[in-house]
Amino acid sequence: MVTIFADRMENSKKSFIREILKVTQQPEIISFAGGLPNPALFPAEELAAAAAKVMSEDASNVLQYSTTEGYLPLREFIAQRYLEKSGLKIDPSEILITNGSQQSLDLIGKVFLNKGDRVVIESPGYLGAIQSFSIFEPEFREVPLMDDGIDIDALDNTLEESDAKLFYTVPTFQNPSGVTYSQEKREATARVLDKHGVVCVEDNAYGELRFAGEDVPTIRNYLENTILMGSFSKIIAPGLRLGWICANKDIMERLLVVKQAADLHSNYLSQRIICQYLMDNDIDSHISRIKGAYGSRRDYMVNMMSRYFPEGISYTKPEGGMFVWVTLPEGVSSMDLFDLAIKENVAFVPGSPFYTIEGAGSNTLRLNYSNSDPDDIEEGIKRLAACMEKLSC
Ligand code: PMP
Repeated sequence: MVTIFADRMENSKKSFIREILKVTQQPEIISFAGGLPNPALFPAEELAAAAAKVMSEDASNVLQYSTTEGYLPLREFIAQRYLEKSGLKIDPSEILITNGSQQSLDLIGKVFLNKGDRVVIESPGYLGAIQSFSIFEPEFREVPLMDDGIDIDALDNTLEESDAKLFYTVPTFQNPSGVTYSQEKREATARVLDKHGVVCVEDNAYGELRFAGEDVPTIRNYLENTILMGSFSKIIAPGLRLGWICANKDIMERLLVVKQAADLHSNYLSQRIICQYLMDNDIDSHISRIKGAYGSRRDYMVNMMSRYFPEGISYTKPEGGMFVWVTLPEGVSSMDLFDLAIKENVAFVPGSPFYTIEGAGSNTLRLNYSNSDPDDIEEGIKRLAACMEKLSC
C-alpha cells in the first residue's frame, strides 16, 4: 500500500504500556501496571515555594529563552553531586540538561544511529529505549540479563559478531526487572565494552532509590567511554520533565547540535524551579523519605507474593527502584493472565513488550509497587494469585 508516512513509522509502534495505562486509570482497578512515582511523595509545597521565588525575583529571565546546555548552576549541582556520591569528576560543560531521560535517548539515537546500525540491549530491556531507538531503525541484539547483571560471555560474543555501536543498560534497579549489576559485573561489562570499543549508554534513572544492600559504583566509574544519563523524575517529580546527559566533549558537541534542532533548550522555568528547590531544601532527606516508602512497599509486595503465589512462580527481590519481575512456569502466558486479571480489576504489564524478539518473555510480567497502598497490594496480589491458580500455574 502506498503511504505518505516515513518508512521509519513502519517499525514504530504505540507503546503497549501507554495503551494498558488507559484501561488501568479507572478507579476500581488495582494497578501494578504503571511506572509512576508515588504522588504523595512529590515535594509539592517546596516546589510551589521555589516557583514563587523564581517568578517574583527573576521573571524576566525565567520566562525568556535560554542556553541549549541548560542552566549552569543546575549543571554545577549535578556535577558536585556526582563527585560527592560516586567520586566521578564530571565538568559541568560535560552535562546537557534535557526534557527528561526519554529525550536523552532520542538525542543519543540521533547522534549515533544510522538505519541498520546494531544496538545491544538487555533482555528484558527498558521499553522506552527500544521505542526511542526504533525511530532510527537500528537492529537490536539482545543479551540475557541474569540475577546479578548482564551475561558477560553472551555480551562478549554479541559484540564480537555484531559490530555494535552502542550498548544500552539500566544497571541499577532496572526497568523492568529490578535487577542490579554486582560490582564484578560492572567491571566486567566495562572491560568487555572497552575491548570492543563500544560506547556504553548507562541509564541511571533509579540509581538514587536504594533501600537495601550496598551502593555500587556506576559503570561510568570503570569506563570513560560511557554516556551517563540521569533524571529528576524519580527523585523530585516527572511532570517537570527534566533529566540530563553526561558525555565527553566530542559527543557533547554533537548532542548540542541535535538538542538545539529539537527544541532549542529544555524548559527553562522547570530548570529554575528545580534548581531553586535544590538550593533551599535537603534533597537527601527527601530521597530518604521516598526510599523508606518504596522499601516498605517492596517488602509488603514480596511478602504477599510469597504468601499467596502458587509454587513454581519466581520473582526478583529488588534492592531499590520501583519494579518486581515475575516469571511464570514455562508455557504459561502472561497475556492470558492479564486477560483474567483485568476481569478481576487487577492490572500489570505482560513481559513481551520488553523484548525485541517476537514471542520472547511470554511467561514474564512486571509489577510496580511504588504507587500502590499496602491494602491494595495485598488485595491485588491475592486476586492475581487466584488468576494464576486458574491458569494452573
Ligand atoms: N529510563 C528509564 C529506565 C525509565 O524507567 C524511565 C521512566 N519510565 C525513563 C528513562 C524516562 O524518564 P524521564 O521521566 O526522565 O523521561
